[in-house]
Amino acid sequence: MATVIKTIGLLGLESYSIEVQVKIIAGPTTMNIVGLGDQAVKEAKDRVEAAFDQVDAVFPKKKIIVNLSPSDVKKSGTYFDLPMIIGLLLESDQLKPKDVNLEGLVFLGEVGLTGGLVSFKGIIPMIIEAKRIGYKGVIIPYDNLPEAEMIEGIELYAFHTLKEVLMWLEGRLNYIKPIRHEAVINRFESKLDFLDVKGHQHLLRYVVAAAAGAHNMLLIGPPGCGKSMIAKRIPTILPDLTEEEAMEVMAIQSISGKRVLEKGTRERPFRAPHYNSSSNALIGGGINALPGEISLGHNGVLFLDELTEFSKQTIESLRQPLEDRIVTMARVRQTNTFPSNFMLIATMNPCKCGYHGDDKCTCSLHDLKVYRQKISGPIYDRMDIQKYLSKVDFLGKLADSERMSSSEMKSRVTLARRIQEERFKAHKRIRTNSQMDTKLAEQFCALDSECHSFLNNAYEKVRFSARSYNKILNLARTFADLDASETVRVRDLTSALLGRDLEKSDNTKLDF
Ligand SMILES: [Zn+2]
Repeated sequence: MATVIKTIGLLGLESYSIEVQVKIIAGPTTMNIVGLGDQAVKEAKDRVEAAFDQVDAVFPKKKIIVNLSPSDVKKSGTYFDLPMIIGLLLESDQLKPKDVNLEGLVFLGEVGLTGGLVSFKGIIPMIIEAKRIGYKGVIIPYDNLPEAEMIEGIELYAFHTLKEVLMWLEGRLNYIKPIRHEAVINRFESKLDFLDVKGHQHLLRYVVAAAAGAHNMLLIGPPGCGKSMIAKRIPTILPDLTEEEAMEVMAIQSISGKRVLEKGTRERPFRAPHYNSSSNALIGGGINALPGEISLGHNGVLFLDELTEFSKQTIESLRQPLEDRIVTMARVRQTNTFPSNFMLIATMNPCKCGYHGDDKCTCSLHDLKVYRQKISGPIYDRMDIQKYLSKVDFLGKLADSERMSSSEMKSRVTLARRIQEERFKAHKRIRTNSQMDTKLAEQFCALDSECHSFLNNAYEKVRFSARSYNKILNLARTFADLDASETVRVRDLTSALLGRDLEKSDNTKLDF
């Protein structure tokens, strides 16, 4: 019989149960770790031996076999140290647990050369998995506690050192739950509000639609017209994360080591990488294939201010994740897949000098063409809404009384999201209208003959691509949902078509 200790493994975002089986047999002093461990796992041998010294235990002078089961799954990371040490101490009769049932416990943590428990990245998906399997508690490094505590419904035992863990297991130390003074986070009480936005009333209808259906949106306008100001206020009208979505966000941030969501809040992530960001930073990658901004923005917003300033290669690398809503990174050591279901909000100037459409513009037609080509057709196609903003919106200013607050806008958005939730109940992974493919759009945007002839007529003038056609239907569905209309009406299609300013100007003028 071998001694068995429970732990959890992690590859990418996937967590799975692992048994650390320890067996001591007669033979020369060796320690073999088997079961598809990577270099970090193999190096555990030295840390385990050093740890025995730290806790005044005797490292067995025999042949030690440590098997990480199931042995056909790759294992990576340093957090198997603790379960290995506990297993080896038990197997060599140097640890006698008292009043603790090891069956229901999971051990996680690297053990440093001085006997301290070292925190590691990615604890949240592991705790979620331990909870799912039905384990009673998890033993973790103290420094992982603030993060681990975000998952409720499983007991956490956080320790600074290996010695403390052993004393607790032997009943020589009572576990006292640490009291932490959490920093007060007021992200929810964001000072930003759409009430600050003067003018642009026409545009705000589209902002509400974008938020309601999680549609990608491109705002085009001269410097200082307020496009960034509007974009930054979009999180204030997005519905709160559902429990399931919040779990996904927490798992990704845990792996990346970046804090996106604070405990107890349900505000959607808003990521605004600078245009100097590398493709790796944006898409994810590096030697450890870590998630990038597009995954950190999962279930939230990826905001690319000054889109044309990003390198063409970086922008193009968004194509696949925008379509598939997941991103796969193949590295020598492993292949990781991360979710990337973000809503893209981008801004750009209308031309190189910024004043296209104004007498001030100094750009030639050629300049304009070169500038617009910084963004490829397929990327423009993926922007469900493309709206021009003008610098001074006199009409809007006059209609100040019509200004909408973020909370009013949010309640409209939330209502439309509820309709979508109901609609996509039976469709796993589909949550919003923007995610509908052609087939789903056909099913949920059934058009009557009036709508059909309207769209045909529009197509004669604009010749939109098949992808644009799909986007138009999806956006029209959202406009209908905002009115709680069961059917998609001509007015919804009109709104959707008018939401694509670039197509209108790049082809013949639309005339409704
Ligand atoms: Zn210009």
